[in-house]
Amino acid sequence: VNSNATTIILFGATGDLARRKLYPALYSLYKKKNNFAVIGVARRDYDHEVFRQNVYESLKNHSNPENDAEDFIKRFYYYPLDVKDTKAYDGLKELADQLNDQFDLQGNRMFYLSLAPEFFAPVTLNLKQAGLTTNTGWKRLVIEKPFGRDLESAAELNNSIHEVFEESEIYRIDHYLGKEMVQNIQVIRFANPIFEGIWNNRYISNIQITSSETLGVGERASYYDHTGALMDMIQNHMLQMVALTAMEPPSRFVTEDIRDEKVKVLRSIRPLTDSTVANSVVRGQYTRGTMPNGDVVKGYREEENIKEQSMTDTFVAAKLHIDNFRWAGVPFYIRTGKRMTAKSTEIVVQFKDAPKRPYFNNFNDLQPNLLVIHVQPDEGLSLKLNAKKFSTGGGSIPITMNFSNSNNDDGSSAYERLIQDCIHGDSTNFTRWDEVALSWQFVDYIAEAWKERNIPLDRYEAGTMGPASAHELLAKDGHHWWPLT
Ligand code: NAD
Repeated sequence: VNSNATTIILFGATGDLARRKLYPALYSLYKKKNNFAVIGVARRDYDHEVFRQNVYESLKNHSNPENDAEDFIKRFYYYPLDVKDTKAYDGLKELADQLNDQFDLQGNRMFYLSLAPEFFAPVTLNLKQAGLTTNTGWKRLVIEKPFGRDLESAAELNNSIHEVFEESEIYRIDHYLGKEMVQNIQVIRFANPIFEGIWNNRYISNIQITSSETLGVGERASYYDHTGALMDMIQNHMLQMVALTAMEPPSRFVTEDIRDEKVKVLRSIRPLTDSTVANSVVRGQYTRGTMPNGDVVKGYREEENIKEQSMTDTFVAAKLHIDNFRWAGVPFYIRTGKRMTAKSTEIVVQFKDAPKRPYFNNFNDLQPNLLVIHVQPDEGLSLKLNAKKFSTGGGSIPITMNFSNSNNDDGSSAYERLIQDCIHGDSTNFTRWDEVALSWQFVDYIAEAWKERNIPLDRYEAGTMGPASAHELLAKDGHHWWPLT
């Protein structure tokens, strides 16, 4: 059975993610004529009406509710449950069965776990025990990050959920894969022969992927202090962007072929060694500093709920090598962090220099060609070229060709795309288990080296682009980070 109607059972319905992203996303999906009902599950003792008012508030704050919002919220039901209370799932099943008939939802069920990760496995097993997963239509599990804390715990979690769901029924969310411009990487690359022809080590000097934030840890402090940038950003979003930028064209544009190509990239990342972790991975933490808007902000160790001697990484930069024919000799530099100069995610492809002599002696300010994919906050593409200086005898100037999508995306549209994909049964933009496992393997090695060996934690002032060592990482190779645009 493949139909687009579904009951969505949303665990964590009173949480931050649900309010900021999921309800606005569901509202858009409702407007696009998807037929669903939602059972919100959380601990709080709401009734349906209070819950509906909460959903409505979320739309007022993060969306633009129109008249149809009245009908939309009538599709929301609330079921209070402590996820560990196994008996309570029976009532959840009753409600799900009832709504299935009431809204003609074809026996389909989406279980969306927007919960603390320690609940992912128990909830899945409890769903099975209560018979919620022996519905008559399709069943799909959408699971938020983080998927484990390391390879071992991720494998354990994976085994648990596989007792209930097949791999093809598991939708591991990496919301970066729902972003417009991340989805656009493949189109830019494979629909434009002018790029695909030069997308290799003959023409590309290096690739730089940045995801910077201006925010500090804020209210997520106690969670973040056990996580850090390596786990929170590199393991998932950053390595996914590397894979999409570096992958071979799949033989067919179908889910498993695309994922296979991404896996090959992850498998080709040169394994680290003790000395390469020390030389090509930078671990940073912000100190007190001044943000570009003039705000003086606390250092990480001064933040509330952070240990005074915390060694947590709020910044990571790394140099990766992808050992295959296409990328031999091309460094991929990645960096991500909090309290940096600007909030931005972008991918910079730096092409090799033109030969300097004999033709270009007069052009002393030639710049390398850059293709920049702007992921957020701006969505677009720019290409930096050299041109003759206009109206003068000689010299060149850099010119930039820009495409910018002025769409004002607050982040819920990534969730909208991903939930829509899940309703359609398309898991292309979700991470398959082998991608997750390979990413953990890479990250675990670094985490372990940081713990076991004497690898310094480099401090950087809030409001800067990271510690000096992050700049030296590129300078050693004769490169530098391109300023964010
Ligand atoms: P949150 O702490 O705001 O909400 C947690 C939800 O879980 C609440 O609805 C709470 O009632 C429910 N809950 C907690 N304990 C429970 C229990 N014992 N029984 C039943 N329900 C219980 O968390 P969040 O920020 O909404 O995050 C949810 C998930 O999404 C997490 O896995 C998080 O890592 C992930 N995520 C969040 C964001 C974000 O922007 N907030 C971004 C990416 C991923």
